[in-house]
Amino acid sequence: MGTESYEEAIAGLKKLLRERSELEPIAATKIDQITAELQTSVESKPSSPLVERMKNGFIHFKREKYEKSPALFGELAKGQSPKFMVFACSDSRVGPSHVLDFQPGEAFVVRNVANMVPPFDKTKYFGVGAAVEYAVLHLKVETIVVIGHSCCGGIKGLMSFPDDGSTSTDFIEDWVKVCLPAKNKVKAENGNIPLPELCAVCEKEAVNVSLGNLLTYPFVRDGLVKKTLSLKGGYYDFVKGAFELWGLEFGLSPSLSV
Ligand SMILES: [Zn+2]
Repeated sequence: MGTESYEEAIAGLKKLLRERSELEPIAATKIDQITAELQTSVESKPSSPLVERMKNGFIHFKREKYEKSPALFGELAKGQSPKFMVFACSDSRVGPSHVLDFQPGEAFVVRNVANMVPPFDKTKYFGVGAAVEYAVLHLKVETIVVIGHSCCGGIKGLMSFPDDGSTSTDFIEDWVKVCLPAKNKVKAENGNIPLPELCAVCEKEAVNVSLGNLLTYPFVRDGLVKKTLSLKGGYYDFVKGAFELWGLEFGLSPSLSV
């Protein structure tokens, strides 16, 4: 007893009542008691503040956005055709839908540590590869934007990890080394400026390395050649409240700064 499933317990009870029907009223009373007890325990158990936060968040979203835009959400129920693919950092302060006010359905987003795009590699980076392939070939996004940001912990890690190949993390160092060329370039060009300044330069340079890595995806190159796709770098500075956008270094698009 005690380890059997609910179904087994009920079957046992039914069997007993078939054999001794005089017990039925007692069983009914006890079941009523159990039901009331369970109800009370569920109702009185306070949910955690984090669960409450999510519940209230969804209630707010549903009331203020979902129910106020039936046409938009009706369309989105049928499918998505975002024009943007965005790479942004996992950092809790830089969500691109907030920073650039993207509405549901506008941006296909990949977020990872330090907003990096690794080079085309079917065995190491299939998660990112699948997202780029899906965005470009199936959703037919028109632009891919890689957005770096100020005070990026991932970039600070990249700039701080020892160069001797030793690692002290399971994943982080190997991941941020995707942008090792940015670290090397920034260190070579900026000598011994203090680490925070070096990191700020690298935060933008790493975006350029990611843009370069995007060129290793054949379907991205195809899109660029056919001009159905463009690549952009972005940088969100949440200390100054500023946003920069630029094209590929060899590209023709003028840069924008707000
Ligand atoms: Zn970051």
